Amino acid sequence: MQLIDIGLNLTHDSFDRDRDAVWQRARDAGVRQAILTGASREHSPKALELARTRPGEWFATAGVHPHHATEYTAECDAELRALHTHPEVVAVGECGLDYFRDFSPRPAQRSAFEKQLQIALDLAVDGVGKPLFLHQRDAHADFMAMMKNFEGRIGPAVVHCFTGTREELFDYLDQDWHIGITGWLCDERRGAHLRELVKSIPGNRLMVETDAPYLLPRTLKPMPKDRRNEPAFLPHIVEELARDRGEDFATAAADSTATAAAFFRLTG
Ligand SMILES: [Zn+2]
Repeated sequence: MQLIDIGLNLTHDSFDRDRDAVWQRARDAGVRQAILTGASREHSPKALELARTRPGEWFATAGVHPHHATEYTAECDAELRALHTHPEVVAVGECGLDYFRDFSPRPAQRSAFEKQLQIALDLAVDGVGKPLFLHQRDAHADFMAMMKNFEGRIGPAVVHCFTGTREELFDYLDQDWHIGITGWLCDERRGAHLRELVKSIPGNRLMVETDAPYLLPRTLKPMPKDRRNEPAFLPHIVEELARDRGEDFATAAADSTATAAAFFRLTG
């Protein structure tokens, strides 16, 4: 088994003391590659810096999460564009809209999102934009409207950590976007609806992610004492996902890996 964790916040300071051991455990569990999420002006360069230490295993995204939208200045835009000249940076994002927490004012969120969509568009090769790593929470209508402005011009897109409704899911699939599934699936309080919805996602549109250190799967046994999620727990998410989809583990693993490798154009 060879899994790819498409959403790993490995720059998080909870990994500072044992980052190499965390990755060794992930490898021992069958995780061969990871996309390190860059979600702020501070952490996007750190994700690239880390990715460069394990060529072919770690890749990075570079972007500014809607929570950090107020830091999206002209200098920040220039910094992101510079990060995107490095081959290890394989997607624009994490970017999008989050009206659930509203940590940044909504107009600032929309502005930062639009500027990052423009980056993905400007980096198009042969007319195909750079892959987008997207976040949407409680902002579906505005999110769809903004994406529509770029319709036909942007490249492949993944709505990461999908937690939404059936209507939202089908809106995304209708646009031919990809879906990222996390351990949210394993949350009997908030994620039960996903158990049914994941059956509707075609294998070549479905990718898996831990979003570690966040979103520790609630079905994991035993639970780590510190409640920190790790990429080594990705196979557990795939097991749960495969069961819900009525597939065997090997099929779900192989499909999500092939989908992620093609989506992010991975080498190594
Ligand atoms: Zn997110």
